[in-house]
Amino acid sequence: AIAISNVNLTLGSGAARVHILKDISLRIGRAEAIGLIGPSGSGKSTLLMVMAGLERPDRGEVVVDGTHFNALDEDGLARFRGRHVGIVFQSFHLIPTMTALENVAVPLELAGAPNASARAASELDAVGLGARLHHYPTQLSGGEQQRVALARAFAPDPAILVADEPTGNLDEVTGQQIVDLLFAKHAERGMTLVLVTHDSALAQRCDRVVKLRSGRIDEAGR
Ligand code: ATP
Ligand code: MG
Repeated sequence: AIAISNVNLTLGSGAARVHILKDISLRIGRAEAIGLIGPSGSGKSTLLMVMAGLERPDRGEVVVDGTHFNALDEDGLARFRGRHVGIVFQSFHLIPTMTALENVAVPLELAGAPNASARAASELDAVGLGARLHHYPTQLSGGEQQRVALARAFAPDPAILVADEPTGNLDEVTGQQIVDLLFAKHAERGMTLVLVTHDSALAQRCDRVVKLRSGRIDEAGR
């Protein structure tokens, strides 16, 4: 579960200073799937980063499965993220000098998981990439790269997964496969899912849709 209370966040300095998140409060239940929508620049990606502990709010509180982010230092937050939060981006964010297997296994190892390599291989197999373990990202198609990113996100068996337009760089059929994998994992493991999307049909597959407008939750859009 994710509980966000009165979160405010300002980023940038000087003329680029922007009050991005304005008094956001939101509760997301365990095993719930949320579709996060809203116009470009409304703060969707930033809110996702706050939920994942990659961005700290200036004011307000984020509690994920009982863990208060404000009470953790940077190391503690990074450790929590490595074990409990899966993150998927539009642009895959794989490490180009590592094979598919290494992209999944190395973060697992860093999080202190035993048998990282074997677990990584089995996660890659589960997303249909059992025959691509030793390929580098440039040797993989966009859909295959995103499946590596999904395997990496799923590998620690996170309680929550946040995905920022995970199909934005993929064609419709490939995007559909990625979304099906996300929802299958959500259903199978009861993983809390927060999905940022511009695709309203995709948002409708979620249990609930939350709309942002200029850094605030648009109550009319619920
Ligand atoms: P999109 O649909 O285009 O991805 P978004 O809803 O994800 O948009 P965000 O990326 O969260 O929007 O950005 C919200 C606003 O905050 C934008 O106006 C952006 O210019 C601004 N912003 C984001 N990061 C910074 C930063 N580091 N410094 C200053 N302003 C920023
Ligand atoms: Mg965005």
